[in-house]
Amino acid sequence: MSANPLLQLDYEPSLERLGDDYYDLVAAAEFPAHILRFRNDDLLPTLGLEPQAVSDAAFIEAFGAFQGVRPFLALRYHGYQFGEYNPALGDGRGFLYGQVRGTDGVLYDLGTKGSGTTPYSRGGDGRLTLKGGVREVLAAEALHRAGVNTSRCLSLIETGEALWRGDEPSPTRSSVMIRMQQSHIRFGTFERLHALDRKDLIAILLDHVIEVYYPHLWGRSDRYALLYAELVQRVAELTAQWMSAGFCHAVLNTDNMAITGESFDYGPFAFIPTFDPSFTAAYFDHFGRYSYGRQPAICRWNLEMLQRPLERVISSSDLEAGLAPFNAHYEQAYRQRMLNKLGFDGSNLELDELLKLTLTLLKETQIGYHSFFAEIAQQFSSDWRDDVDNMFSQASVSPGEFANLWHNWKNSYFNALLSLPEAEMDAIATRLRTHNPTTTPLRPEIERVWDAIAQQDDWQSFYTLLQQIQAH
Ligand code: AMP
Ligand code: MG
Repeated sequence: MSANPLLQLDYEPSLERLGDDYYDLVAAAEFPAHILRFRNDDLLPTLGLEPQAVSDAAFIEAFGAFQGVRPFLALRYHGYQFGEYNPALGDGRGFLYGQVRGTDGVLYDLGTKGSGTTPYSRGGDGRLTLKGGVREVLAAEALHRAGVNTSRCLSLIETGEALWRGDEPSPTRSSVMIRMQQSHIRFGTFERLHALDRKDLIAILLDHVIEVYYPHLWGRSDRYALLYAELVQRVAELTAQWMSAGFCHAVLNTDNMAITGESFDYGPFAFIPTFDPSFTAAYFDHFGRYSYGRQPAICRWNLEMLQRPLERVISSSDLEAGLAPFNAHYEQAYRQRMLNKLGFDGSNLELDELLKLTLTLLKETQIGYHSFFAEIAQQFSSDWRDDVDNMFSQASVSPGEFANLWHNWKNSYFNALLSLPEAEMDAIATRLRTHNPTTTPLRPEIERVWDAIAQQDDWQSFYTLLQQIQAH
């Protein structure tokens, strides 16, 4: 018997038990090389493992060479891609490796990306580029640090193949990733069942989702409507998390929307350099459908499309009532998170003017979105409350032609601090540091990290950047 703790995890065949209407059994590709480039020791305790008890060789055996006897499930799904319905989707370069109950009681999916072809590869190679893997690791860790409900990468293994891609200098290096999140069941999983006219399977899958991921709704006769209403709330909150974290997902197709309301699947994503709602991350998104500022509207549209399959088992009036509060949920969550980024707990109603002014400042001056908040967090001191001139003594924000705006913003922030008791200042300092990462991986930084890897096989800047991202 293998002594590999990753192979000996207590895998639960939760989705597998539903039967093969939802997946195909597939095998992993055999790769010519396995070089462990990233292992996420932060996640191992959740899997009940001590990091020092899991060797690099164990990672490679389980998540690169795919030894062991687990059945691998390529999940079936359809989806709306850039507004067009596509029935030819499904796991084309990944599969559900296994499901494990975490020490927190939550059931987690371990899913692969880049593990070889499946019946859904559509002529693709089933592979993940190493650069794509490096970018997804960085995105997930940065989003996690920013407080976004996100998937995370458990491992990234370089696999020694040469890949050809239109959007990377080719040949380019290959990798396989393990991604950990609650569920890979997508809106598109239901869309497929609707297209196949399988109301029975929609109900079975909804019950499964409720039992595993919304257990507090289990047993309720109105559980489907309640599930949809809660999903609407979760997605509104997730969208507010992306927007406040200054993140543009870039490909918000319905096959990239999880039924658990988690964020996952990072391809051409970008953290916004400046506050610009029209910022678009994917070079192929010609009309800005998935621009930074359109994310709330698009997520709402995706939820609306999900009503088509759900209409089979939920009345349209319940669906409408479920979706109606989306904007209110979003606004409330966005306000809360932005006030947190400014150091406040969100209970103070008078701060809405400050919030508006902050967004105007960021938009008009086009100063760095992330550096602005990081600098408040780093420079904040309780003497900001004594005199407005104490604020931002070393600001890199240059007032220039925006002197008035800058002056107004400082006064507004100063007055907000004055409206609170002095004893609150420590809590403000703590909140500022919690909600504003010191380092956010903007594109030029990620390109620098990748250039070092591509040109000199130098991984140090990748590991250094990861450390900076995770720092508090
Ligand atoms: P994504 O844009 O990563 O969400 O992928 C959209 C669809 O394309 C999914 O069905 C993927 O499995 C599939 N896909 C993406 N890249 C590849 C590839 N290199 N080989 C096979 N299928 C792929
Ligand atoms: Mg996807």
